[in-house]
Amino acid sequence: MKKSCAKIGLILAFICLIFTGLLKWHKSVFLDELPEYKRTALEVMRQPLEDRKICVTRSKMTVEFPASFMLVAAMNPCPCGHYGEDNPAHPCTCTPAQIHRYMGRISGPLLDRIDIQCDIQAVPYTMLKETTPSENSASIRERVVRARQIQQQRFAAYNVTAQKPIHCNAQMTPKAVREYCQLDAQCDRLLSHAMDKLGLSARAYDRVLKVARTIADLAGAENINSAHLMEAISYRNMDRADWI
Ligand SMILES: [Zn+2]
Repeated sequence: MKKSCAKIGLILAFICLIFTGLLKWHKSVFLDELPEYKRTALEVMRQPLEDRKICVTRSKMTVEFPASFMLVAAMNPCPCGHYGEDNPAHPCTCTPAQIHRYMGRISGPLLDRIDIQCDIQAVPYTMLKETTPSENSASIRERVVRARQIQQQRFAAYNVTAQKPIHCNAQMTPKAVREYCQLDAQCDRLLSHAMDKLGLSARAYDRVLKVARTIADLAGAENINSAHLMEAISYRNMDRADWI
């Protein structure tokens, strides 16, 4: 009995250490080569990604720990890394079965909880030589800070009576999404079409709206327009049927 209590205590202390130390400050977690992690380890992230907390239940008690963090992950499209590339010098050498097995290590429910999924193509040589200046990090930071200020102002009234205050778009509840991400008729038709075409889930629907709201905030726009919405839909890259 003593041994079991000590083990539970050790586990809770470890979780405490991680989620009050590492994640308390809304840190980012970067997982490179995502499919190389054990599937069981990846699946336990589903609850904190959804609820921003972790519940540890034992026979006599349940303890909740805050776990609000940003997950950033990277992966190749196949084990050799060249599937989908238009490069005869590096053809993909994987079999369809290998590609499916590799991609299958990331479950649909986990993918569903990732707001932005981008398929990044290799940069062609002509673009590497490009000398046209692009937006620098300092000005991007300014836009992000402005967008966060817009979000703080947006939720100020909501937070007066809310049980759980909202500080940014990602933390919106489904009810808040309905209130703050309203679409006009054109956007509504567009999203309805995308939902059918891409087979998006209800969870993905809310996440698309939150991302569209953030894109609109970054652009300083009061309302979500079709360009913001289309960009947000384009970030559901791995929901597409032609992904593999
Ligand atoms: Zn390959």
